[in-house]
Amino acid sequence: MAKVRFTETALRDAHQSLLATRMRTRDMIPIAEEMDKVGYFSVEAWGGATFDTCIRYLNEDPWDRLRQLKSEFNKTPIQMLLRGQNLVGYKHYPDDVVTKFVEKSYENGVDIFRIFDALNDIRNMEKAIKVAKDQGAHVQGTISYTISPVHTLDDFVNLAKDLEALDCDSVAIKDMAGLITPTAAYDLVSKLKEETDLLVDLHCHCTSGMTPISYYAACQAGVDILDTAISPLAWGTSQPPTESIVAALQGTEFDTGLDLNLLTHIKKYFEDIKDKYQCILDPISESVDTDVLLYQIPGGMLSNLISQLKEQGAIDRYTDVLDEMPRVRKDMGYPPLVTPTSQIVGIQSVMNVLGGERYKTVSNEVKEYMKGMYGKSPAPVDPEISKKIIGDEEVITCRPADLLEDEFDKFKKEGEEKGFVKSDEDALTYALYPPIAPKFLKGEAEEEKLCTKVQDPVEEDAIPTEYSVEVDGDIFEVKIMPTGFVNIGEGDGDEPADYEEGTVLSTMQGMVIKLSVEVGDKVTKGSPICVIEAMKMENNIEAEYDGVVTDILVEPGDAVSNGTGLMVIKEE
Ligand code: MN
Repeated sequence: MAKVRFTETALRDAHQSLLATRMRTRDMIPIAEEMDKVGYFSVEAWGGATFDTCIRYLNEDPWDRLRQLKSEFNKTPIQMLLRGQNLVGYKHYPDDVVTKFVEKSYENGVDIFRIFDALNDIRNMEKAIKVAKDQGAHVQGTISYTISPVHTLDDFVNLAKDLEALDCDSVAIKDMAGLITPTAAYDLVSKLKEETDLLVDLHCHCTSGMTPISYYAACQAGVDILDTAISPLAWGTSQPPTESIVAALQGTEFDTGLDLNLLTHIKKYFEDIKDKYQCILDPISESVDTDVLLYQIPGGMLSNLISQLKEQGAIDRYTDVLDEMPRVRKDMGYPPLVTPTSQIVGIQSVMNVLGGERYKTVSNEVKEYMKGMYGKSPAPVDPEISKKIIGDEEVITCRPADLLEDEFDKFKKEGEEKGFVKSDEDALTYALYPPIAPKFLKGEAEEEKLCTKVQDPVEEDAIPTEYSVEVDGDIFEVKIMPTGFVNIGEGDGDEPADYEEGTVLSTMQGMVIKLSVEVGDKVTKGSPICVIEAMKMENNIEAEYDGVVTDILVEPGDAVSNGTGLMVIKEE
């Protein structure tokens, strides 16, 4: 047995899991030199949600972050998480964008590419793998680990063999919800070591509470690399604590040889960082949640779900939504729940419960999924549900990206003409996030204030009110914040507004992003009338009967809540 090596996740997954990905570059750089001395296998420091968050909330150039980190980490390889053909976004990008993105990531400092696909569809990973290999990078192929009636140990091992055939250097077992049991970890790692020549990395979150035991079992099975986070940013929906696992393995055949004194020094630094971001830290994400064992929902997704239900004024339906989620996952052929499938399944479950009828409202993402546009589902989707959602529309069987036209040059040219794209890196930022990148690239974005609670919309001039409340001798700090939307909680059925007959009501809280009809238009049952964005998903609202649009009550950009009148359609 060789010693076990560590990938430190403090600069990517740990703050993504606990601090809504809000850690700034200026909070990373001062400790980088010390971290570089530790002797980690790698530091995971880029990719995942960091790219999006940089331009959306932090007014930071993610490429610049990468270059700054690279200049500090001289010995330690910098690792990024890449969502296969989705790169660092939520949809498939065409091959030319994937190629350029991987080339530029390597050029700016990424040494190790961890590449995954939410459906474990290798066709969605192969382009990125090939380009990264061509650059000379270390490529870590990934198994998105999940438990379902259709996932077997052999499937995972076969995927690893396929990844090895694509010339990957290592394989990661990506256990998003900490579902892997010690026995399963032992069996899977053993089999991967037996049947491939790949280095094996186990990446787990602590959500279920089993993870440190599973890590030890993986060591006994010969795991090469474990993912951990420095202790202030560990536990809960993050990784196990680096120092604790180092200490646990000291003096054994798996001894990491890492210096606990040096780690303690680094830990002190991150304690201060954690204090600084305390207001973002949700206690739910820091604790163990054994619900995940029943519902198989990753921790990050649970807290998302809670905040989204609150936003919809429907937190009382939480249990119903939890019960609905495994049913939706089954209908969709048991996708592993990781970005973006976790969001797609979660939101559809919310819609099924709040809509009063299953799949009455369906996000565009679910339609695309049913058409095969995300790749091959682990098991076939439920044919009846599919029929209800996409009717007789064609389901593709080819690699989804084969249907996409190249678009890098188009974005580059357009951005240059408009004056905000000055490099290939800028062009990539634009191609990845067309709606939000221009504002950032023009220098018009602002850094989010450090201590605003990220989930609750707060009015500009609202003053948080804090109280200390004593309950049975314990003092609790309670912070009360006014919300930005006065309508939250209204329109949930018990207080029907005064709308004329034939008014189409919104069934969700969100924003109108498109009107598909004008006053005077004839509509038929099932035809699209408008698009509402809710919970990051786009939803087509359809006419429920044949008629004529006689009045439109909203316009694009309007915020609506459950029960808001959208338009009037008189039956014909
Ligand atoms: Mn992770």
